[in-house]
Amino acid sequence: MLKQERYRHFVDYFSKNQPNAVTELHYSNPFELLVAVILSAQCTDKRINQVTPALFERYPTPESLAESTVEEIFSYIRSVSYPNNKAKHLSGMGQMLVEKFNSEVPGNMEDLQKLPGVGRKTANVIVSVIFDIPAIAVDTHVFRVANRIGLTTNARTPLAVERQLIEHLPKSTLSVAHHWLILHGRYICLARRPKCEICPLTYFCRYYERANTESALLKAATAQQKKLEAAKKKKLNATTHKALKKISVDKNI
Ligand code: SF4
Repeated sequence: MLKQERYRHFVDYFSKNQPNAVTELHYSNPFELLVAVILSAQCTDKRINQVTPALFERYPTPESLAESTVEEIFSYIRSVSYPNNKAKHLSGMGQMLVEKFNSEVPGNMEDLQKLPGVGRKTANVIVSVIFDIPAIAVDTHVFRVANRIGLTTNARTPLAVERQLIEHLPKSTLSVAHHWLILHGRYICLARRPKCEICPLTYFCRYYERANTESALLKAATAQQKKLEAAKKKKLNATTHKALKKISVDKNI
């Protein structure tokens, strides 16, 4: 199947079935989403949603975060991954928002990436979710699922995946496609064992196509091997029978 066809099926399927996919992180304003996304690096959304209610209550604004200490922030996020670094990032992020951005979350990639703890992926999430700018953040799920389905080819870095997706997806679907891929990766196309048996995307998934072509070829090769062995055995039996018959005749048995 051509790549363009895979894209067409991908957009058609998800536009019909999950037109309004959104992030599973809980937040009620841009500042809270920024905090939650920084915390979510290499951690589950479920875990983040467990710690953010108390965190947001204690730190409702960039000022409150800026005025706190790293140690105190740490005490609220100790159960997430890399709490030391993330506490430092949140503290630095709060201070920079207050000092350089008038306590507002910036709406462009360049400024967002100046904030501690904010890389390209986080910045993409913020501009697309909060500011409705067509962008696609590539995390581990997006990277893996886009590759398995066949939306990307030889894309070895998140940036390469991002570029290929931007090149082929309709602009209007970029932001939501991020959630389509994440949710599909989180619940069906799992990293270690994709649940292809219940996946609705098999008819255009490259991974599935290849796996089935390989298993069909393997089945055909095994059948052919068995056929050859049976023919060989038959020939051997016939030869043995002939030889025994000749011995009987010679000995006049
Ligand atoms: S068919 Fe399998 S590999 Fe392809 S998207 Fe579905 S779960 Fe993933």
